[in-house]
Amino acid sequence: MGQINLESKAFSILKDKIELIRSEDRAIYLVGPIQLPVNLYGETVVFQWYCWLNCEEITEDYQKIIDKLSTANLAEFQQSSVLVYGDFKNADDALIRMHSICHTGDIFGSKRCDCGFQLKESLKKIKEHRTGALFYLANHEGRGIGLFSKAMAYVLQENGYDTVEANEQLGFVNDSRNYDDAIRVLKTLRTKPVTLITNNPLKLEALENAGMHVSGRTPLWGDVSEYNEKYLQTKITKSGHLKEERTCLND
Ligand SMILES: [Zn+2]
Repeated sequence: MGQINLESKAFSILKDKIELIRSEDRAIYLVGPIQLPVNLYGETVVFQWYCWLNCEEITEDYQKIIDKLSTANLAEFQQSSVLVYGDFKNADDALIRMHSICHTGDIFGSKRCDCGFQLKESLKKIKEHRTGALFYLANHEGRGIGLFSKAMAYVLQENGYDTVEANEQLGFVNDSRNYDDAIRVLKTLRTKPVTLITNNPLKLEALENAGMHVSGRTPLWGDVSEYNEKYLQTKITKSGHLKEERTCLND
């Protein structure tokens, strides 16, 4: 147990950057904005970054929350975050991407899916649109099955199963992702409607059902290769993705 040495000066800096978002019997603590210059295809684009933590304890005494951080072992769990661009609160239209974490695609640049491409391309679209936000959802790996199970699913896929069948063999439903926290954060940052970047009409429907005010959808296709052709086709035939546009079931 570490000694708590938070100076009153440091605390007063932090408390102004923390917002409590109540969610039923839990709380989301949102910290930000923090300037984040991002290398986007060789150009530096400055986003406003926010990160959030979902906690059982609901308190506006942020000192209590800060005191717990050093022993909370947060590195063992992933936290989600959001990159915001432009006048997000006030602009009439904003582009939103709900991006599910993809360790292999986003970090390694795996060609088995098109997540890395979608991540970069979404940021580019948001920048070109002048306003928007990319939510990076940390508990969505492999459409919610986790990285280890995704590795097992890949083994099955290397042996003839498609991506949906592989997940089912491992006992998972096709899609178990939840957007409630992300939508709560979105509503804190912006109450006007948004245009969703996705190829998946079911995702749009899920987000609308969860209370997101969506005014439209922008498709995001590209980066088809011999390695992900079958995967993308499965998304179209089994997961309701629209064909003429096309990509990763992670979408
Ligand atoms: Zn992926």
